Amino acid sequence: MNTFDPRPRIDALARLAREHGVDVVLASPGPDLGYLSGYHAKPLERLTCLVVPAQAEPFLVVPTLERAAAEASPAHVLPVFDFGETTDPYAGTVQLLAERGVEPGTVAVDNLMWAEKTLAFRDALPQSRLVLAGDLVRQLRMRKSPDEVAALRAAGAAIDSVHERMAEWLRPGRTEAAVAADIGEAMLSSGHATVDFAIVGSGPNGASPHHEASERVIERGDPVVVDIGGTMRSGYCSDSTRTYLAAGEPPAGFAEYYEVLRQAQEAGCAAVRPGVTCAEVDAAARTIIDAAGYADQFFHRTGHGIGLQGHEDPYIVAGNDTALEPGMAFSVEPGIYFPGRHGARIEDICVCTDDGVERLNHTDRALTVLPG
Ligand code: ZN
Ligand code: ZN
Repeated sequence: MNTFDPRPRIDALARLAREHGVDVVLASPGPDLGYLSGYHAKPLERLTCLVVPAQAEPFLVVPTLERAAAEASPAHVLPVFDFGETTDPYAGTVQLLAERGVEPGTVAVDNLMWAEKTLAFRDALPQSRLVLAGDLVRQLRMRKSPDEVAALRAAGAAIDSVHERMAEWLRPGRTEAAVAADIGEAMLSSGHATVDFAIVGSGPNGASPHHEASERVIERGDPVVVDIGGTMRSGYCSDSTRTYLAAGEPPAGFAEYYEVLRQAQEAGCAAVRPGVTCAEVDAAARTIIDAAGYADQFFHRTGHGIGLQGHEDPYIVAGNDTALEPGMAFSVEPGIYFPGRHGARIEDICVCTDDGVERLNHTDRALTVLPG
Protein backbone atom coordinates (compact mmCIF):
# COMPACT_ATOMS: atom_id res chain seq x y z
CA MET A 1 0.00 0.00 0.00
CA ASN A 2 2.90 2.37 -0.71
CA THR A 3 0.71 4.34 -3.07
CA PHE A 4 -1.90 4.81 -0.33
CA ASP A 5 -2.83 8.48 0.13
CA PRO A 6 -4.09 9.11 3.67
CA ARG A 7 -5.54 12.53 2.99
CA PRO A 8 -9.07 11.53 1.84
CA ARG A 9 -9.66 9.48 5.00
CA ILE A 10 -8.24 12.19 7.24
CA ASP A 11 -10.31 14.85 5.48
CA ALA A 12 -13.42 12.69 5.95
CA LEU A 13 -12.62 12.37 9.66
CA ALA A 14 -12.17 16.14 10.01
CA ARG A 15 -15.55 16.61 8.35
CA LEU A 16 -17.17 14.18 10.81
CA ALA A 17 -15.44 15.98 13.68
CA ARG A 18 -16.94 19.29 12.56
CA GLU A 19 -20.40 17.72 12.29
CA HIS A 20 -20.13 16.27 15.80
CA GLY A 21 -18.65 19.27 17.58
CA VAL A 22 -15.26 17.67 18.10
CA ASP A 23 -12.32 20.09 17.84
CA VAL A 24 -9.41 17.63 17.58
CA VAL A 25 -9.04 13.88 17.02
CA LEU A 26 -5.93 12.16 18.39
CA ALA A 27 -4.91 8.72 17.09
CA SER A 28 -2.02 6.84 18.71
CA PRO A 29 -0.49 3.64 17.25
CA GLY A 30 -3.19 1.07 16.58
CA PRO A 31 -5.86 0.28 14.01
CA ASP A 32 -7.26 3.83 13.81
CA LEU A 33 -3.83 5.34 13.11
CA GLY A 34 -3.09 2.62 10.56
CA TYR A 35 -6.46 3.12 8.88
CA LEU A 36 -6.25 6.90 8.75
CA SER A 37 -2.60 7.42 7.87
CA GLY A 38 -1.26 4.14 6.47
CA TYR A 39 1.41 4.35 9.19
CA HIS A 40 1.35 1.07 11.12
CA ALA A 41 3.49 2.43 13.93
CA LYS A 42 4.79 0.32 16.77
CA PRO A 43 3.02 1.02 20.06
CA LEU A 44 5.73 2.36 22.36
CA GLU A 45 5.83 4.21 25.66
CA ARG A 46 7.01 7.27 23.68
CA LEU A 47 4.25 9.32 22.03
CA THR A 48 3.39 8.85 18.38
CA CYS A 49 0.12 10.60 17.52
CA LEU A 50 -1.82 11.68 14.48
CA VAL A 51 -3.48 15.02 15.26
CA VAL A 52 -6.56 15.88 13.19
CA PRO A 53 -8.02 19.29 14.03
CA ALA A 54 -11.55 19.89 12.76
CA GLN A 55 -10.60 23.29 11.37
CA ALA A 56 -6.85 23.15 10.65
CA GLU A 57 -4.31 21.02 8.83
CA PRO A 58 -3.56 17.58 10.29
CA PHE A 59 -0.06 16.68 11.47
CA LEU A 60 1.89 13.81 12.95
CA VAL A 61 3.86 13.87 16.20
CA VAL A 62 6.61 11.26 16.60
CA PRO A 63 9.60 10.55 18.81
CA THR A 64 12.80 11.68 17.08
CA LEU A 65 14.06 8.13 16.69
CA GLU A 66 10.82 7.16 14.84
CA ARG A 67 10.96 10.03 12.34
CA ALA A 68 12.62 7.96 9.63
CA ALA A 69 10.02 5.19 9.97
CA ALA A 70 7.16 7.69 9.83
CA GLU A 71 8.61 9.38 6.76
CA ALA A 72 8.99 6.02 5.03
CA SER A 73 5.24 5.42 5.50
CA PRO A 74 2.29 6.89 3.55
CA ALA A 75 1.96 9.42 6.40
CA HIS A 76 4.98 11.29 4.98
CA VAL A 77 2.54 13.54 3.08
CA LEU A 78 1.63 15.12 6.44
CA PRO A 79 3.80 17.58 8.36
CA VAL A 80 5.83 15.51 10.86
CA PHE A 81 7.05 17.02 14.16
CA ASP A 82 9.46 15.11 16.34
CA PHE A 83 10.30 15.36 20.02
CA GLY A 84 13.57 14.28 21.62
CA GLU A 85 14.02 12.21 24.74
CA THR A 86 13.95 15.17 27.15
CA THR A 87 11.03 17.14 25.72
CA ASP A 88 7.41 16.67 26.87
CA PRO A 89 5.60 15.61 23.67
CA TYR A 90 2.15 16.20 25.23
CA ALA A 91 2.90 19.83 26.04
CA GLY A 92 4.55 20.04 22.63
CA THR A 93 1.41 18.80 20.90
CA VAL A 94 -0.73 21.31 22.78
CA GLN A 95 1.68 24.05 21.73
CA LEU A 96 1.43 22.98 18.07
CA LEU A 97 -2.37 23.16 18.31
CA ALA A 98 -2.19 26.64 19.84
CA GLU A 99 0.13 27.81 17.05
CA ARG A 100 -2.53 26.70 14.56
CA GLY A 101 -5.27 28.60 16.35
CA VAL A 102 -7.06 25.42 17.47
CA GLU A 103 -9.14 25.75 20.62
CA PRO A 104 -9.36 22.19 21.90
CA GLY A 105 -12.69 22.30 23.75
CA THR A 106 -13.61 18.71 22.89
CA VAL A 107 -10.80 16.29 22.11
CA ALA A 108 -11.52 12.78 20.81
CA VAL A 109 -8.90 10.09 21.56
CA ASP A 110 -8.78 6.74 19.76
CA ASN A 111 -10.56 4.01 21.73
CA LEU A 112 -7.39 1.98 22.19
CA MET A 113 -5.08 4.79 23.31
CA TRP A 114 -3.09 3.57 26.30
CA ALA A 115 -4.36 4.93 29.61
CA GLU A 116 -0.95 6.48 30.37
CA LYS A 117 -1.15 8.52 27.17
CA THR A 118 -4.82 9.42 27.61
CA LEU A 119 -4.14 10.66 31.14
CA ALA A 120 -1.05 12.57 29.99
CA PHE A 121 -3.21 14.35 27.40
CA ARG A 122 -5.81 15.03 30.08
CA ASP A 123 -3.13 16.68 32.22
CA ALA A 124 -1.82 18.67 29.25
CA LEU A 125 -5.35 19.77 28.31
CA PRO A 126 -6.99 20.52 31.67
CA GLN A 127 -9.73 22.66 30.10
CA SER A 128 -10.70 20.11 27.44
CA ARG A 129 -13.41 17.48 27.46
CA LEU A 130 -11.96 14.11 26.37
CA VAL A 131 -14.28 11.79 24.43
CA LEU A 132 -13.82 8.58 22.44
CA ALA A 133 -12.97 8.91 18.76
CA GLY A 134 -14.52 5.53 18.01
CA ASP A 135 -17.96 7.00 17.33
CA LEU A 136 -16.45 9.02 14.48
CA VAL A 137 -13.81 6.64 13.12
CA ARG A 138 -16.21 3.68 13.06
CA GLN A 139 -18.36 5.58 10.55
CA LEU A 140 -15.42 5.40 8.15
CA ARG A 141 -13.95 2.01 9.06
CA MET A 142 -17.30 0.20 8.85
CA ARG A 143 -17.71 1.02 5.16
CA LYS A 144 -14.88 -0.81 3.44
CA SER A 145 -13.50 0.51 0.17
CA PRO A 146 -13.05 -1.90 -2.77
CA ASP A 147 -9.33 -2.14 -1.85
CA GLU A 148 -10.19 -3.10 1.69
CA VAL A 149 -12.72 -5.69 0.52
CA ALA A 150 -10.03 -7.11 -1.77
CA ALA A 151 -7.68 -7.39 1.22
CA LEU A 152 -10.39 -9.19 3.22
CA ARG A 153 -11.06 -11.46 0.24
CA ALA A 154 -7.37 -12.41 0.16
CA ALA A 155 -7.49 -13.08 3.91
CA GLY A 156 -10.54 -15.31 3.36
CA ALA A 157 -8.76 -17.27 0.64
CA ALA A 158 -5.72 -17.71 2.88
CA ILE A 159 -7.69 -19.07 5.83
CA ASP A 160 -9.75 -21.29 3.50
CA SER A 161 -6.52 -22.84 2.26
CA VAL A 162 -5.73 -23.82 5.85
CA HIS A 163 -9.17 -25.35 6.48
CA GLU A 164 -8.76 -27.31 3.24
CA ARG A 165 -5.74 -29.07 4.74
CA MET A 166 -7.37 -30.07 8.05
CA ALA A 167 -7.25 -33.80 7.28
CA GLU A 168 -3.44 -33.59 7.39
CA TRP A 169 -3.46 -32.66 11.08
CA LEU A 170 -6.76 -33.36 12.81
CA ARG A 171 -7.15 -37.00 13.77
CA PRO A 172 -7.85 -39.16 16.81
CA GLY A 173 -4.86 -39.65 19.12
CA ARG A 174 -3.39 -36.15 18.66
CA THR A 175 -3.78 -33.33 21.17
CA GLU A 176 -5.68 -30.17 20.36
CA ALA A 177 -2.46 -28.22 21.01
CA ALA A 178 -0.49 -30.27 18.46
CA VAL A 179 -3.20 -29.71 15.85
CA ALA A 180 -3.32 -25.98 16.67
CA ALA A 181 0.48 -25.73 16.24
CA ASP A 182 0.27 -27.28 12.77
CA ILE A 183 -2.60 -24.95 11.88
CA GLY A 184 -0.56 -21.96 13.05
CA GLU A 185 2.37 -22.91 10.85
CA ALA A 186 0.07 -23.33 7.85
CA MET A 187 -1.52 -19.94 8.53
CA LEU A 188 1.87 -18.25 8.43
CA SER A 189 2.84 -19.98 5.20
CA SER A 190 -0.55 -19.04 3.67
CA GLY A 191 0.26 -15.32 3.91
CA HIS A 192 -0.74 -14.43 7.46
CA ALA A 193 1.73 -12.22 9.32
CA THR A 194 0.37 -13.32 12.71
CA VAL A 195 -1.77 -16.12 14.09
CA ASP A 196 -4.33 -14.34 16.27
CA PHE A 197 -6.13 -17.47 17.48
CA ALA A 198 -6.36 -21.14 16.64
CA ILE A 199 -9.28 -22.66 18.49
CA VAL A 200 -9.39 -26.45 18.39
CA GLY A 201 -12.28 -27.50 20.63
CA SER A 202 -12.74 -31.24 20.66
CA GLY A 203 -15.57 -33.13 22.34
CA PRO A 204 -16.71 -31.21 25.45
CA ASN A 205 -14.28 -28.37 24.68
CA GLY A 206 -16.30 -27.60 21.54
CA ALA A 207 -19.12 -26.39 23.80
CA SER A 208 -16.95 -23.50 25.08
CA PRO A 209 -16.96 -20.94 22.25
CA HIS A 210 -13.62 -19.34 23.16
CA HIS A 211 -11.77 -22.44 24.29
CA GLU A 212 -8.33 -22.23 22.63
CA ALA A 213 -6.44 -25.52 22.43
CA SER A 214 -5.56 -27.83 25.30
CA GLU A 215 -3.61 -31.00 25.93
CA ARG A 216 -6.81 -33.00 25.50
CA VAL A 217 -6.29 -35.97 23.18
CA ILE A 218 -8.85 -36.00 20.37
CA GLU A 219 -10.96 -39.15 20.39
CA ARG A 220 -12.53 -41.03 17.52
CA GLY A 221 -16.06 -39.70 16.96
CA ASP A 222 -15.39 -36.30 18.55
CA PRO A 223 -16.96 -33.27 16.93
CA VAL A 224 -14.17 -30.67 16.76
CA VAL A 225 -14.81 -26.94 16.43
CA VAL A 226 -11.92 -25.30 14.55
CA ASP A 227 -12.13 -21.48 14.62
CA ILE A 228 -9.01 -19.85 13.20
CA GLY A 229 -7.97 -16.35 12.28
CA GLY A 230 -4.98 -14.13 11.84
CA THR A 231 -3.75 -10.87 10.43
CA MET A 232 -2.43 -10.70 6.89
CA ARG A 233 0.58 -8.60 5.93
CA SER A 234 -1.97 -6.11 4.53
CA GLY A 235 -3.18 -5.56 8.11
CA TYR A 236 -6.59 -7.13 7.39
CA CYS A 237 -7.89 -10.11 9.37
CA SER A 238 -9.24 -13.55 8.57
CA ASP A 239 -11.69 -15.57 10.68
CA SER A 240 -13.47 -18.79 9.73
CA THR A 241 -14.95 -21.68 11.68
CA ARG A 242 -15.71 -25.19 10.55
CA THR A 243 -16.77 -28.13 12.68
CA TYR A 244 -15.21 -31.48 11.82
CA LEU A 245 -15.82 -35.02 12.92
CA ALA A 246 -12.61 -36.80 13.95
CA ALA A 247 -13.41 -40.01 12.08
CA GLY A 248 -16.04 -42.52 13.17
CA GLU A 249 -19.64 -41.80 14.03
CA PRO A 250 -20.91 -38.60 15.68
CA PRO A 251 -22.47 -38.71 19.16
CA ALA A 252 -26.24 -39.20 19.41
CA GLY A 253 -28.17 -36.11 18.43
CA PHE A 254 -25.20 -34.30 16.93
CA ALA A 255 -26.10 -34.74 13.25
CA GLU A 256 -29.59 -33.38 13.93
CA TYR A 257 -28.50 -30.16 15.55
CA TYR A 258 -25.60 -29.71 13.11
CA GLU A 259 -28.11 -29.63 10.25
CA VAL A 260 -30.19 -27.00 12.10
CA LEU A 261 -27.02 -24.95 12.60
CA ARG A 262 -26.10 -25.24 8.93
CA GLN A 263 -29.52 -23.96 7.89
CA ALA A 264 -29.35 -21.13 10.42
CA GLN A 265 -25.94 -20.03 9.15
CA GLU A 266 -27.22 -20.12 5.55
CA ALA A 267 -30.25 -18.04 6.53
CA GLY A 268 -28.06 -15.47 8.29
CA CYS A 269 -25.86 -15.07 5.22
CA ALA A 270 -28.85 -15.01 2.86
CA ALA A 271 -30.45 -12.17 4.84
CA VAL A 272 -27.55 -9.82 4.09
CA ARG A 273 -28.31 -6.94 1.73
CA PRO A 274 -28.33 -3.15 1.93
CA GLY A 275 -30.97 -1.74 4.27
CA VAL A 276 -31.35 -4.87 6.37
CA THR A 277 -30.33 -4.19 9.96
CA CYS A 278 -27.68 -6.05 11.93
CA ALA A 279 -30.41 -7.16 14.33
CA GLU A 280 -32.37 -8.67 11.42
CA VAL A 281 -29.38 -10.71 10.30
CA ASP A 282 -29.01 -12.00 13.86
CA ALA A 283 -32.71 -12.84 13.95
CA ALA A 284 -32.60 -14.65 10.59
CA ALA A 285 -30.12 -17.16 12.00
CA ARG A 286 -31.49 -17.28 15.53
CA THR A 287 -35.12 -17.91 14.56
CA ILE A 288 -34.20 -21.22 12.96
CA ILE A 289 -32.22 -22.38 15.98
CA ASP A 290 -34.97 -21.24 18.36
CA ALA A 291 -37.69 -22.96 16.33
CA ALA A 292 -35.80 -26.25 16.47
CA GLY A 293 -35.71 -26.04 20.25
CA TYR A 294 -32.07 -25.04 20.75
CA ALA A 295 -32.60 -21.42 21.87
CA ASP A 296 -30.68 -21.92 25.13
CA GLN A 297 -27.80 -23.60 23.25
CA PHE A 298 -27.07 -20.49 21.13
CA PHE A 299 -25.91 -18.00 23.72
CA HIS A 300 -23.82 -15.47 21.80
CA ARG A 301 -24.43 -12.85 19.13
CA THR A 302 -24.44 -14.01 15.50
CA GLY A 303 -21.36 -12.06 14.42
CA HIS A 304 -18.94 -9.17 14.52
CA GLY A 305 -17.44 -6.78 12.02
CA ILE A 306 -13.93 -7.45 10.76
CA GLY A 307 -11.23 -5.41 9.09
CA LEU A 308 -8.01 -4.11 10.60
CA GLN A 309 -9.26 -5.65 13.86
CA GLY A 310 -10.62 -9.14 14.26
CA HIS A 311 -13.64 -7.74 16.07
CA GLU A 312 -14.97 -4.28 15.18
CA ASP A 313 -18.22 -2.61 14.15
CA PRO A 314 -20.79 -3.56 13.04
CA TYR A 315 -21.85 -6.19 15.58
CA ILE A 316 -24.53 -8.61 14.40
CA VAL A 317 -26.64 -8.64 17.53
CA ALA A 318 -30.22 -8.04 18.70
CA GLY A 319 -30.79 -4.35 19.32
CA ASN A 320 -28.27 -3.13 16.74
CA ASP A 321 -30.45 -1.22 14.29
CA THR A 322 -27.52 -0.18 12.10
CA ALA A 323 -28.70 -0.71 8.51
CA LEU A 324 -26.23 -2.60 6.36
CA GLU A 325 -24.52 -0.70 3.58
CA PRO A 326 -22.34 -1.91 0.72
CA GLY A 327 -18.82 -2.51 1.98
CA MET A 328 -19.75 -3.58 5.50
CA ALA A 329 -17.91 -6.79 6.41
CA PHE A 330 -18.75 -9.09 9.30
CA SER A 331 -18.96 -12.68 10.42
CA VAL A 332 -22.09 -14.84 10.46
CA GLU A 333 -21.25 -17.49 13.03
CA PRO A 334 -24.11 -19.11 14.91
CA GLY A 335 -23.27 -21.96 17.24
CA ILE A 336 -25.09 -24.66 19.17
CA TYR A 337 -23.43 -25.80 22.39
CA PHE A 338 -24.15 -28.51 24.94
CA PRO A 339 -21.84 -27.78 27.89
CA GLY A 340 -19.94 -30.83 29.06
CA ARG A 341 -20.74 -32.75 25.88
CA HIS A 342 -19.99 -31.13 22.51
CA GLY A 343 -20.84 -28.20 20.28
CA ALA A 344 -20.69 -26.86 16.76
CA ARG A 345 -20.20 -23.53 15.02
CA ILE A 346 -20.03 -22.46 11.37
CA GLU A 347 -18.53 -19.10 10.48
CA ASP A 348 -18.07 -17.20 7.25
CA ILE A 349 -17.10 -13.59 6.66
CA CYS A 350 -19.78 -11.81 4.63
CA VAL A 351 -19.56 -8.51 2.80
CA CYS A 352 -22.68 -6.53 2.01
CA THR A 353 -22.66 -5.72 -1.73
CA ASP A 354 -24.78 -3.33 -3.78
CA ASP A 355 -27.60 -5.86 -3.97
CA GLY A 356 -26.82 -8.74 -1.63
CA VAL A 357 -23.92 -10.55 -0.13
CA GLU A 358 -20.48 -11.85 -1.01
CA ARG A 359 -19.10 -14.58 1.20
CA LEU A 360 -15.36 -14.58 1.65
CA ASN A 361 -15.12 -18.18 2.89
CA HIS A 362 -15.98 -21.07 0.65
CA THR A 363 -14.90 -24.37 2.22
CA ASP A 364 -17.53 -27.06 2.64
CA ARG A 365 -20.06 -26.30 5.35
CA ALA A 366 -21.47 -29.81 5.51
CA LEU A 367 -20.12 -31.83 8.43
CA THR A 368 -16.71 -33.03 7.22
CA VAL A 369 -15.75 -36.43 8.52
CA LEU A 370 -11.96 -36.64 8.58
CA PRO A 371 -10.19 -39.95 8.08
CA GLY A 372 -8.87 -41.69 11.20
ZN1 ZN B 1 -13.97 -17.14 14.46
ZN1 ZN C 1 -15.55 -14.54 14.43
